[in-house]
Amino acid sequence: SERTALGPLVGAIDQGTSSSRFLVFNAKTAELLSHHQVEIQQKFPREGWVEQDPKEILNSVYECVERTCEKMKQLNINIANIRAIGVTNQRETTVVWDKTTGEPLYNAIVWLDLRTQSTVERLLKRIPGKNKTFSKFKTGLPLSTYFSAVKLRWLLDNVEEIRKAVEEKRAMFGTIDSWLIWSLTGGKNGGIHCTDVTNFFSNDVNVFLFLFAKQKSGALTGVPISGCLGDQSAALVGQMCFRDGQAKNTYGTGCFLLCNTGQKSVFSEHGLITTIAYKMGRDKPVFYALEGSVAIAGAVVRWLRDNLGIARTSQEVEKLAADVGTSYGCYFVPAFSGLYAPYWEPSARGIICGLTQFTNKKHIAFAALEAVCFQTREILDAMNKDCGIPLSQLQVDGGMTNNKILMQLQSDILCIPVVKPSMPETTALGAAMAAGAAEGVGVWSLNPGDLTAVTCERFEPQINPEESEYRYARWKKAVMKSMGWET
Ligand code: ADP
Repeated sequence: SERTALGPLVGAIDQGTSSSRFLVFNAKTAELLSHHQVEIQQKFPREGWVEQDPKEILNSVYECVERTCEKMKQLNINIANIRAIGVTNQRETTVVWDKTTGEPLYNAIVWLDLRTQSTVERLLKRIPGKNKTFSKFKTGLPLSTYFSAVKLRWLLDNVEEIRKAVEEKRAMFGTIDSWLIWSLTGGKNGGIHCTDVTNFFSNDVNVFLFLFAKQKSGALTGVPISGCLGDQSAALVGQMCFRDGQAKNTYGTGCFLLCNTGQKSVFSEHGLITTIAYKMGRDKPVFYALEGSVAIAGAVVRWLRDNLGIARTSQEVEKLAADVGTSYGCYFVPAFSGLYAPYWEPSARGIICGLTQFTNKKHIAFAALEAVCFQTREILDAMNKDCGIPLSQLQVDGGMTNNKILMQLQSDILCIPVVKPSMPETTALGAAMAAGAAEGVGVWSLNPGDLTAVTCERFEPQINPEESEYRYARWKKAVMKSMGWET
């Protein structure tokens, strides 16, 4: 018999750097009912360049939606109960497309891409004292290769087809959320071009565009897309961090620690960025966050798998590390895309140091995981300094948190407990909550009390703080060695 007692359902499109997912949640209990995931290709056409195919991204989303709907049918869950869909996306990744043909005019430039280094340098030259935090007063962000605005500048300066399309008023620009929503709501036949405040190169909330568009194609034709949040904001919402001082750290391709600062934007003195956490509707207030961004986290595991071939899967890297349980004095700074917070140093490149005759691939695997934990410690230290009150535990999520060794190591290196919700898809949950809470949908009140208690897994520190400090000091030394390779 059909599971009719479920009540209203909400879907979430989660378009990440490594994969796309579609997930369906019960709006009453936040239970994850069904989902499908497809890995996305990454192209590295030149050193420092990272691209993805916008069509592949779009098709992967269609595939995830179709397959999830099939799985729901098998589970006797009526897809007609899906009342709304939320979109969450890898932020800063930039697409320019032709609105008359619906085709992309260039590959998507992924947030990790370094090609805009010279664009950033040129902008810096025009700023008094070449101060890269100059733009922070207006936008909350330092000048960096990371952000979509400089990527768009590069595309306008370097791609003839795009320049021509702009002249002929055919070009559309957007982050992945805009590309997907425009395509899903009809594309060249009247698609809606919009974005959300969490996806903009600005703290200026006047750019907010209200979103409520009906899907025009795919298995869920007619279901409204009523919510949109950048992935890290979505994870903050999915972790129920609605109060001032509540924070979460997400371990995906990169690693992003966000702390809700309420309705005021806090200016960081320690290398963090000021960003918008969320704005849940036209007349709702803006909430801000301090953000610590680490470019490479899960990506270092994928690199060990794809570039060095020391493992066939990400899970195998965990086994290698578990086998030795130590890096044996080896430190790995995966500064593949320069260093983001707290350094914002584009000249940094990856290094592996402290090698001896004894070092083997297992130690390197361990050092790679440890690097993710050290990078998190650096942004947590910055966050504690900016906020004044140290976090007493860390709420975590993201694909990499399936790695138990990593979670234990993280607690050891931070000397505080690490808490992981048993339903790890918090990014998608946040997008679903935003969609469900939208005006005119109203199946989710965004009141955490409405949800059944979230069960969590806890990791407590198991090494003494002196040992932890010693290793952290060595890490800092390694970071210094990674800087200044590229100028
Ligand atoms: P994104 O949202 O950036 O696409 P995800 O949250 O889906 O990322 O996480 C995927 C990343 O996590 C990949 O880079 C992958 O290498 C890494 N990962 C997944 N499982 C493990 C594991 N067991 N051990 C280490 N890394 C893992």
